[in-house]
Amino acid sequence: MNFVYQANNQRVVFAAGARSRTGEELDRLGVSRAMIITTPSQADTAASFARLIGDRASIVYPGAQMYTPTNVTEGALAAVSSVKADGILVIGGGTAIGLSKAIAFRTDLPQLVIPTTFAGSEMTPILEEVERGVKKTQRSPKVLPETVIYDPELVAGLPLRVVGPSAMTAMAHAIDALCAVDANPISSLLAEEAIRALRRALPRLLAGPNEAAWADALCGAWLAGTCLGTVAMGIHHKICYALGGAFDLSHADVHCTLLPYTAAFNQNAAPKAVQRVARALEGDDVPSALYDMMLEVETQPSLKALGLTRAALERAADLAMKNPCGSSSQVTREEILQILFAAYEGKRP
Ligand code: NAD
Repeated sequence: MNFVYQANNQRVVFAAGARSRTGEELDRLGVSRAMIITTPSQADTAASFARLIGDRASIVYPGAQMYTPTNVTEGALAAVSSVKADGILVIGGGTAIGLSKAIAFRTDLPQLVIPTTFAGSEMTPILEEVERGVKKTQRSPKVLPETVIYDPELVAGLPLRVVGPSAMTAMAHAIDALCAVDANPISSLLAEEAIRALRRALPRLLAGPNEAAWADALCGAWLAGTCLGTVAMGIHHKICYALGGAFDLSHADVHCTLLPYTAAFNQNAAPKAVQRVARALEGDDVPSALYDMMLEVETQPSLKALGLTRAALERAADLAMKNPCGSSSQVTREEILQILFAAYEGKRP
């Protein structure tokens, strides 16, 4: 055995109804003038948090945009200064968390994050930003949120169309972490458990309101984000990052539609890791099992259905090859194109 493991220092509070502890957790962080960040569609939820924390709220800022454009960050930084915020409270998915991380990177303000999707960004030291259409990814301990509150009840509002792809995103994080060249005993243990929790949760998430399923999925998202945050990213993220930043596609849909095909690639590239995925999924044929899950949750189950043109695949392959985050630097452009074409057609891998 030969590995490096970098543990991240974060406090996690996990319970149904845990949002009621938001004020005391802000106090623990010494935050008395929190900027509350969210996306436009969750402005009402953020306003209810402002009422909950009373004087500790300085401003509700529902201006986050997917993939964290730097011009949006500039506007938010101006708001931070004008209200003299001394900390950030985030209510939302990866989009809201992205803006918070971008602010923390530039100001070192402490962050309390309350995730409402399964994207898992709250557990990674990874900052993704887009400047004039170009995506930039970096790692910094400055962007890692100090405290995370997981409250399964908050997932209740997530539209059915988003629930499944969001859970599949967490699954993709865990599978990519298992297949990473620098996977270690801890990250692989967490990843396998994440896959198990998400597999258990998925059918129940789709069947209607189910608090136990929300808790399983949030727990899976937490574990998946944690292991992803401690290893290098693999082929799946190398491609998804290229597609997400340049073609304005939904982050969760891109992860969901690509996963069966990157898993098929990993069957040859990382066979032992894929065996562990099979064990967690309780099935032998991992790409096919993931394909069935993808069909069940995705209303647009191919890159073509998501609106990508065939011509765009060549550009996506070029962008993916430039992507510095990949641990699978030995992967060829031809192999990436093959994965993209397969996901474009959307046939069983
Ligand atoms: P999102 O945050 O954009 O959420 C999707 C939509 O659902 C939004 O309109 C949001 O307002 C709404 N929503 C979220 N939770 C809701 C709820 N409980 N009830 C009702 N509506 C709700 O999507 P996402 O997939 O969570 O995040 C995508 C973003 O996160 C991308 O920008 C991606 O790059 C980033 N990301 C970053 C990392 C990282 O480690 N840096 C990891 C994963 C994702």
